[in-house]
Amino acid sequence: MTIKFKNSYANLPPKFYSKTEPTPVSNPKLILSNSSLAQELEIPENWMLSQQGIDTFSGNKILSGSEPLAMVYAGHQFGHFSPQLGDGRAILLGECLDTFGMRRDIQLKGSGQTNYSRSGDGRSPIGPVIREYLVSEAMHALNIPTTRALAAVSTGDTVYRDTSFPGGILTRVAKSHVRIGTFEYFASINDIESVQILSDYCINRLYPDCLKSTDKYLSFLKSVVEKQISLVAKWMSVGFIHGVMNTDNISISGETIDFGPCAFMEAFNPSQVFSAIDVNGRYRYSNQPEILLWNLMRLAETLLPLIDKNQEKAIEKVTVILKDFWPLFETNWLEILLKKIGFSTVEHNDDLFINELLALIESTQSDFTLSFRYLSHLLLKNPKPLPVQLPLFESESFKKWVPRWKKRLESEPSSLIDISSQMNATNPLYIPRNHLVEAAIQEAIQENKFDLMKTLNTLWKQPFLTNEKYEQFSYPATDKNEVTTTFCGT
Ligand code: AMP
Ligand code: MG
Repeated sequence: MTIKFKNSYANLPPKFYSKTEPTPVSNPKLILSNSSLAQELEIPENWMLSQQGIDTFSGNKILSGSEPLAMVYAGHQFGHFSPQLGDGRAILLGECLDTFGMRRDIQLKGSGQTNYSRSGDGRSPIGPVIREYLVSEAMHALNIPTTRALAAVSTGDTVYRDTSFPGGILTRVAKSHVRIGTFEYFASINDIESVQILSDYCINRLYPDCLKSTDKYLSFLKSVVEKQISLVAKWMSVGFIHGVMNTDNISISGETIDFGPCAFMEAFNPSQVFSAIDVNGRYRYSNQPEILLWNLMRLAETLLPLIDKNQEKAIEKVTVILKDFWPLFETNWLEILLKKIGFSTVEHNDDLFINELLALIESTQSDFTLSFRYLSHLLLKNPKPLPVQLPLFESESFKKWVPRWKKRLESEPSSLIDISSQMNATNPLYIPRNHLVEAAIQEAIQENKFDLMKTLNTLWKQPFLTNEKYEQFSYPATDKNEVTTTFCGT
């Protein structure tokens, strides 16, 4: 028994993809595989670790039932429309049903050229494979919807970028790889029939509740808007900066996708940008909701002809949904942030506590993650000394904020000790700090070792639990090991 493929995308009309097999690699070796995800997908672990498994995850073997294809899509990249992108270095092997009956894509990334590779080599250096494996799995553990990593292999081949790197392939699992850009591809060539086929496909697969609506395409748009708002609010609550929110990187399923230049912010700075190519800060931390709205408008435009034959009426209907964007975002954001400071109920002016706290974390340039995590210590009778000194905790204004916050907590139903543990289950201690991800990548490139990657992967599976052995991995970077710039790493 291997992977029980049950494909659906391959049954869509041929213009949705191009059938392409992965290009074999010379000497595949398994770096890391994900046994709990394999279990969820009913893939036997012993097969996954076998030579046949490794050959499958490197693209050297095509299993029976697999119908490899590259998906076509377009996309707005940094605001500019590219009419045809597509999987240039990824190949969908097929789909299978997980133990919950949910359909999941299994895709290789870095598996060779496709019809959409343009001038690219279809390959990936090992660095981006390690980054995506680590960060996507950490996101999952942080309860943030994301594509997953099933396996990472090294190929034995060299990949040339500004210099040469060992090659790698990631096996990525997603609820679907359809993006806003997939809709834009068909809409831009005025192929409304295909936009409809694609919408029906997504509704059936991802949003079946829309079938009950009399206005199913409008209801589909609303569902995607809600899913994406919830996603971006969750990103921001842990200081995550996606880095390249182009419409081809916005998944219809509401999963985080494409971990190229992403990074977690350390000292809180709303204008933080890591990506080397984001020179104007389009995708900076605080601009993510604004960009999301812009991206959702691009999706809405593609759906107009399905929503109403009369364009004006269609625009009116869509506007009603998009007008709700900001109030809905605020509600989502507030709900998560209130939980982060231990409020399970909502009282008038509670948002002030959050806004004041955020302003203090920012003005003291304190670490975003630890500022929230360490709050719970203030509720303990005999707290242990904190391992990292936060300027926030020294601030006079913060010292005035704390008693007001504690007073407000008195109206909560739980005891302070319980609130403190609830907060620790909400505010992670360990996040994929950039310098740690980078250190794991460097160890792989320079020493062909994956020990740090494996240690971090294990640690980040339990981001809320104190692990004394790895306490130092909760610390922010120092001046010496700080990584301030990230790259798409294609
Ligand atoms: P990304 O920046 O990962 O969102 O990629 C944008 C587009 O460039 C997608 O269509 C990718 O498939 C394509 N692409 C990126 N890297 C490569 C590569 N090495 N070879 C071929 N296509 C690539
Ligand atoms: Mg992409």
